[in-house]
Amino acid sequence: MTARVIDGGAIAAGLREKVAATARRLAQDHGITPGLAVVLTGDNPASAVYVRNKATQTEAVGMRSVVHRLPATASAGELLDLIAALNADPTVHGILVQLPLPPQIDPHVVLAAIDPGKDVDGFHPLNAGRLATGLPGLVPCTPLGCVILAKTVLPSLAGLSAVVVGRSTIVGRPLVHLLLAENATVTIAHSKTRDLPAVCRGADLLCAAVGRPELMRGDWIKPGATVIDVGINRVAGEGGKHRIVGDVAYAEAAEVAGAITPVPGGVGPMTIACLMANTLRAAAARAGLPPPELSV
Ligand code: NAP
Repeated sequence: MTARVIDGGAIAAGLREKVAATARRLAQDHGITPGLAVVLTGDNPASAVYVRNKATQTEAVGMRSVVHRLPATASAGELLDLIAALNADPTVHGILVQLPLPPQIDPHVVLAAIDPGKDVDGFHPLNAGRLATGLPGLVPCTPLGCVILAKTVLPSLAGLSAVVVGRSTIVGRPLVHLLLAENATVTIAHSKTRDLPAVCRGADLLCAAVGRPELMRGDWIKPGATVIDVGINRVAGEGGKHRIVGDVAYAEAAEVAGAITPVPGGVGPMTIACLMANTLRAAAARAGLPPPELSV
């Protein structure tokens, strides 16, 4: 079997188009331009690239982008003061604090200070709790993107055996709750799981969020399964260059799976598209409007 490739770039572009069209209507009908504020603390080069991409894509879908930069020496107090100002700013509908933060600042304190209605990353404990208890709220972007991608090839996840490898609060845990909400039968695996290959082989839907280059081999995949690879790992390539690979050995897995996301070009592009969608949702909710219809 050669797996169908789930083209995250194209699916993300479709979602961004929907967001842009809905944002235009929000402006025309209600005079609202959704605004996303991103806070970058310190000078981590990867974070700077992510923040730039987010700002560019925010403007490309017709929303307002504001980037606040704080030095690496900033105190927790300075960051909390900025968040308080953004919470109070009616032109800001979404607030994203780029992680990681410098070591002197506790990310949990900072994330809990964001107004949950503006928490477009979905990391506030209130939104995490709403997701875990099956209530509507803002949901973390990467797992949201994973479910959207899976549903492009599996319109119903009901009753499927889904295995999520990785239990981080950013990806694995929220993904479990999203899959449960889709009525999948969910197993969550992690570094202490016994016989991980056998657990993975039971999966109709295998989601890898581990951060270990090509950990999952072809013989870990159930024939015909759908594989969603969240991993982004930099490994040495030819000629002293680097290349990016996922947590799944793509070429081997593609021989066995029914459908698979590539790395790059799978989950990655969906994350920022889902951030745009969350900013729009936050703006609509703030205005007392129903949640925008954004299915792709
Ligand atoms: P993380 O916080 O480091 O969590 C990794 C998880 O994988 C942990 O639960 C860990 O288990 C588990 N794990 C580690 N080694 C394992 C092994 N050998 N076998 C089984 N489980 C193992 O990572 P994360 O933030 O969730 O990110 C995971 C990957 O996704 C990274 O490559 C990251 O770059 C990527 N990512 C991509 C996007 C995107 O937009 N595409 C967004 C976020 C993250 P324990 O809990 O037992 O330690």
